[in-house]
Amino acid sequence: MSKKPNQPEEYCSFCGRPASQAGMLASGLAGRICADCAQQAYQIFTDSHPQPVVQPDDGPLPQPREIKEFLDQYVIGQDDAKRVLSVAVYNHYKRLRYNDRRSETNNGQVDINDVEIEKSNIVIVGETGTGKTLLARTIARLLKVPFCIADATTLTEAGYVGDDVENVLVRLLQAADYNVAAAERGIVFIDEIDKIARKSENTSITRDVSGEGVQQALLKLLEGADVNVPPEGGRKHPEQKLIKINTRNILFICGGAFDGIERSIAARLNSNVIGFKGDETRRELDRSNMLQYVQPMDLKKFGLIPELVGRFPVLTHLEALDRDALRRILTEPRNALVKQYVELFRMDDVELHFEPEALDTVVDRAVEYHLGARGLRSIMESIMTDIMFDLPQMPKGSAYTITADMAKEKLAL
Ligand code: ADP
Repeated sequence: MSKKPNQPEEYCSFCGRPASQAGMLASGLAGRICADCAQQAYQIFTDSHPQPVVQPDDGPLPQPREIKEFLDQYVIGQDDAKRVLSVAVYNHYKRLRYNDRRSETNNGQVDINDVEIEKSNIVIVGETGTGKTLLARTIARLLKVPFCIADATTLTEAGYVGDDVENVLVRLLQAADYNVAAAERGIVFIDEIDKIARKSENTSITRDVSGEGVQQALLKLLEGADVNVPPEGGRKHPEQKLIKINTRNILFICGGAFDGIERSIAARLNSNVIGFKGDETRRELDRSNMLQYVQPMDLKKFGLIPELVGRFPVLTHLEALDRDALRRILTEPRNALVKQYVELFRMDDVELHFEPEALDTVVDRAVEYHLGARGLRSIMESIMTDIMFDLPQMPKGSAYTITADMAKEKLAL
C-alpha cells in the first residue's frame, strides 16, 4: 500500500517485507499480514485440518431392506439388481466397520488369525439407458459418501493419449473436496467397462493398447493399492506434488451393456436364443431376458481379463425396460420427469396436468425409437419447449393440460 508522507512504512509481521514490496497488508490487533503469507497460512491450515471424514460408524448401518426401499423411490423395476446392490453396499459398510475395529484393537497390526472380509466390487450388465448410472448415483445419495462417475472409454494406459486410469481417483478426490480420508471410503462408478474388453478372448500375441493395458491398470486400482494421483488430474509430471490414495476401501461399481453377451450366455447354456427346440431345462429358460443368467465366465468370454473378472465378486443384470416400465418412469420416481415439469410450472404459478393418453404417446415414441428411458426426456422436451416459452405470459393461478392431440402434434405423429 502506498505510504503517506511522514508516516512510517508498514511491514508484514510474518515475512518482514515492507508494504512497498509485499503490496496490500491486512492489519490485526498485534500486527499485519501480506497476501502471500495469508495464502500460505491458509494452505497450512487446510493441509493439517482435514474436514471431518464420513464415518460408517455414524449411526446405525442402513440395512439391505432399507437400501432397497430407498432405491425403489428413484428407480423403477430392476428388483434383482436392487437386492444384489443393497446387500453389497451393506456388506461394504460392515467391512469398513470391521476393519476399523480390527485396526483399533490391533494397533494397525494384522493378526493372521483374523478373518479378512474382502471387498465386493460390482459389475452391472444391462442395456444402455436402463438405470445403471441411476442406481449407482442413488446409492451414493443414500450413503452420503463421495461418489464419482468415470467413463472407461476415455481411459488409456499410461503413456498414451487419453486419461490415465488414476484420474478416476482424481474425480473421487474432487468429489470429496480433497478430503483424502473421505475419498478412500468412496464409491466409483465406471461406465462402459465393456468397451475396454479385448477383441477376443485369445488376444495375447499382439498388445491390445485400448483394451488389455487399461484393464491391467484398472486391476491395480481394484486390488487395493496406494496410488499416487496428481491433484488436478491430467498427466503426472516430475515436479508435481502427488497425493497418495489407498484404494483398499473404495467400492468400485462398473456398468456395461456388453452388447451381444446374450449369445455367449445362450451358447454356454447350450441353448439358442432364437431356436425353439427344447428339452426340460431349455424350456425353463426365459429367452427374452438372457442377461439374467450372466456369469463371470461370460464376461471373460466377452474379453475381460480373468484377473479383472476375479476382482468383481458381485455380478448383476438390469432388465430391458418395457412399455409399462417406461410409463411408470415418467410419473413415479421421486424426481420423475412429469413431477419436474409440474414443479417448473408451479414456479410460474400455473398448475400443469398431463392427459394419460399424452404420456402414452411419449412412451410410444420412446419404444418406437428404441431410446429406452434415456429418450423420454428429449421427447418430453420436444413437446414442452414451445409451451414453456409462453409459460411466463400465462395467467397466474391458471391450469394447463397437455392433451394427447397436443403431444402428437408437437411430435408430428
Ligand atoms: P445407463 O444404464 O445407460 O447408465 P442411466 O442410469 O444413465 O442409464 O439412465 C438414463 C436415464 O433414464 C436416467 O437419468 C433416468 O432418468 C432414466 N432411467 C433409466 N432407467 C430407469 C429406471 N429403471 N427407473 C427410473 N428411471 C430410469
